[in-house]
Amino acid sequence: MRSMADENGILYLCATPIGNLGDVSQRCIEILKSVDLIAAEDTRRTLQLLNHFGITKALTSYHEHNKREKGEYILKLLREGKNVAQVSDAGTPAISDPGEDLVRLCIENGVQVTSVPGPVAGITALILSGLSAKRYAFEGFLSVNKRHRREHLDSVKNDPHTLIFYEAPHKLRTTLEDMRRVFGGDRRIALARELTKVHEEIIRTTLDGASEYYSEKTPRGEYVLVIEGARETAPEPEEQFWSGMSVTEHVEHYISQGMDSKEAVKAAAADRGVPKRDVYSEYHKK
Ligand code: SAM
Repeated sequence: MRSMADENGILYLCATPIGNLGDVSQRCIEILKSVDLIAAEDTRRTLQLLNHFGITKALTSYHEHNKREKGEYILKLLREGKNVAQVSDAGTPAISDPGEDLVRLCIENGVQVTSVPGPVAGITALILSGLSAKRYAFEGFLSVNKRHRREHLDSVKNDPHTLIFYEAPHKLRTTLEDMRRVFGGDRRIALARELTKVHEEIIRTTLDGASEYYSEKTPRGEYVLVIEGARETAPEPEEQFWSGMSVTEHVEHYISQGMDSKEAVKAAAADRGVPKRDVYSEYHKK
């Protein structure tokens, strides 16, 4: 006997190109052709993609401002056994895009969710940045609220992971200025612009360099900012018992502990990381 879950349709999270239409996967095209409905963040943009691949399919909008009601509607269709593909404006749904809520709604209601993976702007920028891709943190967009932006940046100031931010061109200069103030001007940054498009450009510089560059040039296109993680600072050396002693006092300390003078000179030299002969001549000067 089939369970209720089996009678439900499937929600497919379909990644679409972030610029170059050639990056759409074969499987993505097949899924878009086969589902009953496509829920698109921007129906006009998705229509261009569908037209390019000759796909005729029912479209509905699902975006930040209608996600509550539209989510319920899509869930209803899924429960009736319809298959739905979700596509965002560009790249992977749920990555700084509406989608997360729909995924949660489906999971809570026992509806199967699967993915058709593909491009993500943040990861594409990371691998081109030249910065460490071993450990990284995806930070998405900074808030437009000045205080929240500052708090966000402060919270990751000492993070050793490579940091990935999304940014719109008209906010780029302010963001670079805020980052420079919080992270310091010598922190390295890669500004990845228009990825996979004709004018793709990666500017690898420091935050000082980026601010200077954009003081003369107008930012254009879509940006991902990849920032070097905080460098580890050397721990403060611990206070040593001999820190306040002269070389002679240091040697005498060991002699008072039962060492002969040769051993005491050797021990004091090792503590101080200096040659024995320096300690010897200083001790015998007295
Ligand atoms: N879901 C998408 C993904 O998988 O990366 C991201 C969508 S988010 C609303 C849009 C932001 O992604 C842009 O403001 C920009 O920061 C970044 N982005 C998208 N396409 C890009 C591209 N071709 N080059 C550089 N950044 C891009």
